[in-house]
Amino acid sequence: MTTKTKTGAAIPVVAKDAGMRAFECEVTGEEIPLPECLACAQRGAPGCSMFPAFIHQIVNDSRPHNFSQRLAKAHGADFGISVTELLYCPRKFRLKMAYSWTEKPSDFYARFSGTAIHAALEDYEGAGIAEERLIATFDYREKVVLFSGKPDLVTYSDAGWLITDYKRTGWPPRSSYSYTCPKCYEVILSDVTDRRGIGGANKPLYCPDCDENFRRRQVHQITHLPEAKYAHAMQLSLLALLLNKNEEQYASILEEKHGIIVSDAPPVFSGQIIYLGPRDILPIPVDIDLDVARALLRTRLDALLRPELPPKEPLEGWECKYCPVATQCDTAT
Ligand code: SF4
Ligand code: SF4
Repeated sequence: MTTKTKTGAAIPVVAKDAGMRAFECEVTGEEIPLPECLACAQRGAPGCSMFPAFIHQIVNDSRPHNFSQRLAKAHGADFGISVTELLYCPRKFRLKMAYSWTEKPSDFYARFSGTAIHAALEDYEGAGIAEERLIATFDYREKVVLFSGKPDLVTYSDAGWLITDYKRTGWPPRSSYSYTCPKCYEVILSDVTDRRGIGGANKPLYCPDCDENFRRRQVHQITHLPEAKYAHAMQLSLLALLLNKNEEQYASILEEKHGIIVSDAPPVFSGQIIYLGPRDILPIPVDIDLDVARALLRTRLDALLRPELPPKEPLEGWECKYCPVATQCDTAT
C-alpha cells in the first residue's frame, strides 16, 4: 500500500498485518506460533537443534520490523530508512512493509551471533562515542525523509573522524593473487583466493597470447591484500554521510564527555571494518566516499518512493536465499 502525494512521490505504508507472523518449524516445515515453538523447545524438541534460550531471544527481540517508520513518525517525518535497510534489496524493503511472513528459527542464527558479539563490544568507547544513533532529516519530493544509522564506534584525532564497525563473519575477506605471463607480462589469471593446485599438472597457467602453459614457479605472482566487502565499505560511507550532517552534535558530545575539541576545518572521514572471523581478527581500512553514498541514497529513494515495486536488486545471492518475502517477490506487482 502507498500514499500518493501531489508530486507523484509515493510514501509506502506498513500494512496492519505485516511482519513475521510465525516460525516455520525446522522439523515439520509447518507454521508454528512463536510461543508454541518456545514451549516445544522447553519440552526438549525431539529431533530439533533449537534450544529455549535461543528461541526466547528471537521472540523477545526488542527492535520491531517497522522500526524506521516509527522513528520517522516520532520525528515528524513521512518516511524512514536506516543505513542497513538502504543497502539491502529495495524490493524486499517494500514487500516487508506490505506482507506477513514466516522464518525458520535457524535463519536467525547469524544475526544472533552478530548481536551477541556487538553486545560484548559496545561497552567500550575509549575517548570516542559508541552506539549513538545518528539521524538526518531532509526534504525529498515535498516529503520529509528520516535517514538514520548507528556506528559501532566513532573516534576523533588530528587525522579527523574514524568510524569503526565490527563484523562477525564465518568468511572474512582473504588475500587474492594474480599471475602474469613470464614472456609477455600479460595477466593470465586473477582473483585467485585458493592457490591449491594452481600451476600444477592439472591446472597449468595458460597464456593465450603466447599459446603456452606454465608452472607456478615460472610465472610472476602478485599478492593483493584483503579488501572490505563492497556493502560493508558502502555502509561506512553512508554512516560518514550521517556524521557529516551531525558533526556539531558529535563534537559537543566529545567535548562534554572527553574534553576533546573538534577542529573548525571541513571534516575528514576514514573508516575501518574489524572482521571477527571464526579464528582470526582482521582489521581492514576503508576509504570513505561521500559522493558515492549520496548517489546510492538518491537512487534507493527514487526506487522506494514510487507506486511501483522496486526492481530485484539483492546485494548478493545469499540475500534471496534468506529473503522472508521471496514467495511474494515473484508474484507481487
Ligand atoms: S523447537 Fe524446533 S521442533 Fe519445536 S516447534 Fe520450534 S522449530 Fe519446531
Ligand atoms: S527474493 Fe531477492 S530479489 Fe526478491 S525481494 Fe527478496 S532479496 Fe529482493
